[in-house]
Amino acid sequence: MHASSSKSLEELQKAIGYTFKNQELLIQALTHKSYAGEHGLKSYETLEFLGDSLINFFVVDILLSEFPQASEGELASMKSYFVSEEYLSELAEELSLDAYIFVGGKRRNNHISPSLLADTFEALWASIYLDCGKSADFVKKLYEGLYKERILSAVGAGEYKKDYKTLLQEETQRRWKERPTYRVVSIEGPHHNRVFEIECSIREFRATAKGRSKKSAQQLAAKKVLELIQSSEK
Ligand code: MN
Repeated sequence: MHASSSKSLEELQKAIGYTFKNQELLIQALTHKSYAGEHGLKSYETLEFLGDSLINFFVVDILLSEFPQASEGELASMKSYFVSEEYLSELAEELSLDAYIFVGGKRRNNHISPSLLADTFEALWASIYLDCGKSADFVKKLYEGLYKERILSAVGAGEYKKDYKTLLQEETQRRWKERPTYRVVSIEGPHHNRVFEIECSIREFRATAKGRSKKSAQQLAAKKVLELIQSSEK
């Protein structure tokens, strides 16, 4: 029924180290809505929703147990890196997920985007969770077995320490080959206690933020715009 898949699902399951009892759950995790619509199948969207939460949980749990001394802010910036589309799409590429994804219609011949890869990766973990009988602990161990070492060495190398302005710019360059712009909206308060309000915008995405320095206001505004862009596809 899924002749369009160029690789056997067996290889994928071997790579993850898990064999599905219900193969249909695995297929659902790999099915984009464009294909689902054409073939009367379920798409991965609700699985992605659940998988997103599961991966957040796995990552936070790993970080908290390995770095009990880290501040919440540090943990937050590590977490946002390890659950980012960029990072998850790399993990998906390593599993060659692009070879298994079912896409239909006009999309069929398109390049599989990083965001599609990351979404299916999230859905995949939800499908394992459901298939194994909802044992979060079992699935977490599987995830740790595959990715914990890698997460720890990335932390060690400081890979996650990119700032939001850089992250945003990478995202907009990748999507549109454009850079966001920053504009001072207002400067308030006395000299020694100024508050800067900065607007960051790119295309239809726009946010403002305040800070004690231009730089900190820019960082916050960039963070907001990045979140707007990332949530616009949901
Ligand atoms: Mn997603």
